[in-house]
Amino acid sequence: MSIDVEDWFHVENLKAVIRRDSWSEQRARVERNTDRMLQLMAGVQGGVRSTCFILGWVAERCPDLVRRIAAAGHEIASHGYNHELLDSLSPKAFRDDVSRSKATLEDIIGAEVRGYRAPSFSIKEWAIPILQDVGFSYDSSLFPSFGHDRYGKLAGITPDEPVIELAPGFFEIGVSCVTIASRGVPWGGGGYFRMLPYSVFRRGAKQILHSGRPYVFYIHPWEIDPDQPRVQGLRRSHHFRHYVGLGRCEARFRSLLADFSWTTMAELLRSWTGAPRPRAVHA
Ligand SMILES: [Zn+2]
Repeated sequence: MSIDVEDWFHVENLKAVIRRDSWSEQRARVERNTDRMLQLMAGVQGGVRSTCFILGWVAERCPDLVRRIAAAGHEIASHGYNHELLDSLSPKAFRDDVSRSKATLEDIIGAEVRGYRAPSFSIKEWAIPILQDVGFSYDSSLFPSFGHDRYGKLAGITPDEPVIELAPGFFEIGVSCVTIASRGVPWGGGGYFRMLPYSVFRRGAKQILHSGRPYVFYIHPWEIDPDQPRVQGLRRSHHFRHYVGLGRCEARFRSLLADFSWTTMAELLRSWTGAPRPRAVHA
């Protein structure tokens, strides 16, 4: 289970209308929505532990939220600092962005942050050595689908290989796809989760598990918030992707939490590869 902890106004689909330099003027709802998700996960019998890929911009403004997430037993990971697609960054700017986000999170929780997820899954081949050099040990940005313009691709990876060692000690954990006619169809969350009938979505997740692969799901706190501010003037496709099914998402999320057993990405990596446990970075 993974949660990309960002606010409604950070989303790529709203970028054309909400300028980056207006972020601090927007109505922040990330704490409220993330706390609600923590509550839902704690409410499941036995509790659910997730990996929270937290945006550095959010962590800097809401350090107590980061502490609450960690204290509830969830893994803290990085969603970068500024939510810029990798296409739009130079390698140097990318290194600065991920280093800043990692340091921000580690300062708050006092423990090593090992996981990274790129904004809008926009991972690129050139970014992998940088992530490893900065000290991450896994990336979970790969969405091996053929149906989305922004999702990144890495050479030689197919939907059938969920955890791959890209370099010695550095792993990719793909977000789930179902394979239909040898093509990967995104099945890990997002608009697909909010739009398809829940029983169909659940059947796909079960199919992935039955094939012996882990099921990797992602969600954002703003997806369970139908009362977030509605932005006007979006392209129709962006409007649809962002707002479809928000009203039913919390109930679905609750069902999904109860219908499967979940763990963190670090635990998945450990059980899959025998990767080491994270270290404390300072006392
Ligand atoms: Zn994001």
